[in-house]
Amino acid sequence: MEQQDRLINIYIAGLAVIATFAVGWAVMSDPFRQFDGGFLALGLLTIFSSCWLRIQLPRTNVHFTISDALIILSMLLYGGSITVLLATVEVAAASINLKLRGTPIRLKTIAFNILAAPIGVFAAYQVAMLLFGRLDVVVPRHDLTSLTWLLLTISLALFAVNSITVSVFAAIRTKKSVWHHWKQNLGDTIVLNLLGGIMAGAILSAVAHLNLYVVAAIVGFFGVIFLTFRHFVSDARRSSELAQREQRERYEQAEKHVRELEHYVAELEKAADALQESHERFRHAAFHDALTGLPNRNFFIERLKELLTEGAELGEFRFAILLLDLYRFKTINESLGHSLGDRLIQHVGRRLGEMVRESDLAARFSGDKFGIILTDLLEKDEAVAFAERLSARISEPYTLDERQVFTDVRVGIAFGSSKYLEAEDLLRDADIAMYYAKDSNEKHVIFDQKMHVRAVTRLQLETDLRFAIERHEFELHYQPIVALETARLVGFEALVRWNHPQRGLVPPNEFIPIAESTGLIVPMTVQILESACKQVKEWQLRFPAEVPLSIAVNLSGKHFADPKLVSQIKEVLAVSALDPASLKLELTESAIMENAERAIQMLAQIKETGVQVSIDDFGTGYSSLSYLHRFPIDLLKVDRSFVSAMEENSENGEIVRTVIALAKALRLKVVAEGIESIHQFHQLRILKCEYGQGYLFSKPQAVADIEILLADELHWQHILPQPSRQVPPAANISPLRLAN
Ligand code: C2E
Ligand code: MG
Ligand code: MG
Repeated sequence: MEQQDRLINIYIAGLAVIATFAVGWAVMSDPFRQFDGGFLALGLLTIFSSCWLRIQLPRTNVHFTISDALIILSMLLYGGSITVLLATVEVAAASINLKLRGTPIRLKTIAFNILAAPIGVFAAYQVAMLLFGRLDVVVPRHDLTSLTWLLLTISLALFAVNSITVSVFAAIRTKKSVWHHWKQNLGDTIVLNLLGGIMAGAILSAVAHLNLYVVAAIVGFFGVIFLTFRHFVSDARRSSELAQREQRERYEQAEKHVRELEHYVAELEKAADALQESHERFRHAAFHDALTGLPNRNFFIERLKELLTEGAELGEFRFAILLLDLYRFKTINESLGHSLGDRLIQHVGRRLGEMVRESDLAARFSGDKFGIILTDLLEKDEAVAFAERLSARISEPYTLDERQVFTDVRVGIAFGSSKYLEAEDLLRDADIAMYYAKDSNEKHVIFDQKMHVRAVTRLQLETDLRFAIERHEFELHYQPIVALETARLVGFEALVRWNHPQRGLVPPNEFIPIAESTGLIVPMTVQILESACKQVKEWQLRFPAEVPLSIAVNLSGKHFADPKLVSQIKEVLAVSALDPASLKLELTESAIMENAERAIQMLAQIKETGVQVSIDDFGTGYSSLSYLHRFPIDLLKVDRSFVSAMEENSENGEIVRTVIALAKALRLKVVAEGIESIHQFHQLRILKCEYGQGYLFSKPQAVADIEILLADELHWQHILPQPSRQVPPAANISPLRLAN
């Protein structure tokens, strides 16, 4: 930019030198020697027409004015020197006039125009003089040919000098070539200059051949034509400008439309992308499990369908499906909390994912249930070997919240075969095998047609259970609870059996889980509570003791969470008229730990009724010691597994000892479950365990058998060591007083 400015300055300075020379020559050559009124008129007309009678040719930057013709006329009539001055003044006046009218014209352009004018006229005059000699001799001869050539020469000389100076100036400003600008303006400029020459010649001839009035009339006539033309030109320019503006507006409007369209298309593309993405996300969610990220049951079934179709086409089935259920997951989930349970599921899912090959599939179905498809099996044993590796891997400890958690799996295996037309059938059989594994406590079980019968039985049981409540098919058996110190009966645990019309007595383990999952456990327990409380109340009246007989009733975790529980207990107590202190409710650790804080409140409400609470199967769940002392409970029942192992293994003896010490520290009484041998009985006595129950004393028995027992107060005296044996019944010392 700076360099461009500098070049323009240098160019203008160069022109200034030449112009100074031209003007200097003009001043030195006695310019005013022929000055008269005619020149004054001519000069004023030149300046006037240059300033006000100027028209710009439409779509060009070329200005037409008769001043060009008047300058040539001045040159012919009054000589070169005065015309050089007139041209300088005319251009200066026109430029200043333009500037004053607010035309955006730069000072450097004004300077250029003023300097270029005398140079052009000077050069044209010198060329004409060189070719035609003195003009004041040629002009008065009125020789048309010489005059024409003279005018042509002057016009072309003016054109040459003007066009070159202008093109150089434009070239410096735009940085394009001189040739480019010269070529561009060639046509317009040459026409203007020739027109100037022709007009000058016409005026000269008119003045010579006609009188002044005719000339004036012709000038007037041309003046009117000129003004009309100017009007027409300005009209044309205006409409051209209008057309240009409209075109520009239309163009802008079109551009705006294009931009809007582009924006719209982009938005549309974005929406399409988002739709595609959400479609994919939806598909992924529909076929994947959110917790583990593994494929879900739907995915599994789709893959199974594919494999069954392939197998049917090829005539061979070389795949197996494995259904997995985490062992004791429910206990972990309920006692350690659901968030830890979820994390355990995630860890298990990860391990499964790592174990299967790319052609296989590991999926999570729901809860703690997973499925695996093993493909390309050469022998069935491969699936069994895999199940063994799987259970070994899943049994490795998990570290969750700096706590080591253990779990295991039960696996049901079923092999693809032509007998399966539907994927669901194969899945059902693997499921049956898995339940079989759970029930039989085997790590993996391969499906066998016989299992199907069992599954159907279970389903039937579920249906029958619904009627069992209405038909009062439940029967209570009572297992005596004995004070170990005195070997005397202190109470019973009520254990339910289902007197099934076809199957006879069904043990609780077979139907309690079904009752829990169907919600039938609540009405069932209410029935049990009522009949147990009534029964014990009756025995209390018939067999009075200092401390009346107590009754322990098992409560399911599902029922413990029922807000109606407390009112149900109160009602049962009212109906049976049993002293609340005689009723003991047994809850498992996991039932209480599932929601420890709520359990504290619930237990407190139960305690308010005067009923006692025991923790059943203590040692098999995850009890938190920090909670144990906050639970308002009365008894701990040591699980049978610890008691039964007391003989074989001293470690379990230690556990029983520790549990008893813990209970003492928490001021709780201890009941040992499953006492089967005299040895266990003696050991527990040594450990100062207060109460016990087990086959050593009695199996759970029906009412009639229990009443025989009740009649014989010293029934178990023989198992006591000699010094501890009780004096004959006459002494009638309360069992509980001895126990305490
Ligand atoms: P539990 O409450 O721990 O009951 C003790 C179980 O151990 C009883 O099994 C009993 O027969 C058995 N048992 C007692 N002494 C011995 C022994 O010396 N050796 C052996 N091997 N077993 C002994 P049962 O009657 O089959 O009950 C099993 C479980 O079913 C109960 O365990 C309890 O959790 C549940 N249950 C029983 N009746 C009810 C009930 O009315 N309501 C609820 N919610 N659960 C019940
Ligand atoms: Mg119990
Ligand atoms: Mg128990």
